Amino acid sequence: MTFTDLSIAAGAKMLPIKEIAERAGIPEEALELYGNFKAKINVNDLPPAADFGKVVLVTAISPTPAGEGKSTVTVGLADAFNQLGESVVVALREPSLGPVMGMKGGATGGGFAQVLPMEDINLHFTGDIHAITSANNALAAFIDNHLHQGNRLHIDPRRITWKRALDINDRALRHVTIGLGGPAQGVPREDGFDITVASEIMAVLCLATSLEDLKERLAQMVIGYTYDREPVTVRDLEVEGALALLLKEAFKPNLVQTIEGTPALIHGGPFANIAHGCNSLAATNTARQLADIVVTEAGFGADLGAEKFMHIKSRKGGFNPDAVVIVATVRALKMHGGIAKDALAETDPDAVRRGMVNLAKHVDTIRQFGIEPVVALNRFVTDSEGELAEIMAWAKAEGVAIALTNVWEQGGKGGLELAELVKQELERPTNFAFLYNETDSVEEKLRVIVQKVYGGVDVQLSDKAQKQLLEIKKCGWDELPICMAKTQYSLSDQPKLLGRPQGFTISIREIIPKLGAGFLVCLTGDIMTMPGLPKQPAALKMDVGPNGEAVGLF
Ligand code: ADP
Repeated sequence: MTFTDLSIAAGAKMLPIKEIAERAGIPEEALELYGNFKAKINVNDLPPAADFGKVVLVTAISPTPAGEGKSTVTVGLADAFNQLGESVVVALREPSLGPVMGMKGGATGGGFAQVLPMEDINLHFTGDIHAITSANNALAAFIDNHLHQGNRLHIDPRRITWKRALDINDRALRHVTIGLGGPAQGVPREDGFDITVASEIMAVLCLATSLEDLKERLAQMVIGYTYDREPVTVRDLEVEGALALLLKEAFKPNLVQTIEGTPALIHGGPFANIAHGCNSLAATNTARQLADIVVTEAGFGADLGAEKFMHIKSRKGGFNPDAVVIVATVRALKMHGGIAKDALAETDPDAVRRGMVNLAKHVDTIRQFGIEPVVALNRFVTDSEGELAEIMAWAKAEGVAIALTNVWEQGGKGGLELAELVKQELERPTNFAFLYNETDSVEEKLRVIVQKVYGGVDVQLSDKAQKQLLEIKKCGWDELPICMAKTQYSLSDQPKLLGRPQGFTISIREIIPKLGAGFLVCLTGDIMTMPGLPKQPAALKMDVGPNGEAVGLF
């Protein structure tokens, strides 16, 4: 029989979630059960922590479209710590239906390193993403109703920046016209949809520290501009209370378990290419309160999720990672060495050697933040000894700590060596430092990211971005961190430039202030905030059996 993530998950025996809560030190009164295997946590009912746990951030090299096993290694590493008798909680993002139905697949790990119940987590879970979609679209409806009911605030319908959202890849909704059909149907205007995980409300939920803070951040969100070009906020519309009410349950972190019974918090799911890419601060802080070690991930390569973890999440949260793991795979390194996507199964140590430049850049990036990374070489059965040896030899020569991990096949046991290496790093102090200060000019912040993190030469702003920047400066919003929106496949903004491209310039198409989230989104290259589905979406393989059992969910 061939194993799939779904068949392995279906064969695993879950413990009642109350037992997992007990292991994590969560009292029963802090639990809100969603069936036997999922629960929300009322963080205000948790006992105060004497000490906060250390944070291990898992990131990766620039990935192939299939993903390099970052979630898998994150879960496997947590299980390895568990096997070593450490107090550990893993914190992950909630999967979006976009990639689940589209190309990449789920985000619950893989093989014997998964979080359960994987089927629920990959589909509707506890409804958080739906709640965010509802809040996002309620706001859109309030805006259009305001226009229809006399437009007291003089909002210019041509300058509304708030978009509708849907948690699915749907390119046909990127640009739409609404309000057609005559005066009774509202005010006609152009609108568009983003995928929910790129909604500012997702970022707000992920960065808020309390319900009050959530409400305040919602109030600060800019929805557009008046005819006099003055910004209009949610506070002006007086609906922050209603939006916070819609989100009050979604704001509570969700507790589940790994196949090996390690407590896992899954909460919030912004993408790392078009948003800030990390699970919620509420979940990470809850995990830090509960355990000595927190293993968490940031999406895509270290140029995206990890950079934003440091500059946005850490900054807001007032903590920094104590150790960083970079996941690498033979197949992605071969791709960076020039091998076509459909030929990655063929053995080619020379291509691996050529592709090492990509891993080297990500190692360099993490070192610039003052942290010595550990590389997790995520082993696939198709990897040859010669290819693996290339990477091991490189790491030895460069003085980079590296462990061959086999958590997909063996669960925590396959990550014990990695856990030991990470433990050594956790015992050493880091010299963590941000690469830019919030008070630096926007141009300077962009240049730092492009030069130090991407390895590029410079940054170029389109006419539109320059105009937007003038507006941002005029409003005094320029002292915010940057949230880059960039392709995950390349260090540059050109998806086809693999390996370690040199001499490139990053083009900024638009700069969108997100005051509730507290960052400036900079759109580079052709990156879209509403993705499309591929020719053969993953959905084509999916089905449901007569007893409700999922089929074809990876
Ligand atoms: P990422 O978090 O980097 O996007 P995931 O952990 O979600 O990647 O893994 C992507 C897919 O690859 C999953 O279906 C997972 O089961 C599979 N996978 C990961 N590591 C391995 C491995 N070592 N062997 C086989 N399949 C793997």
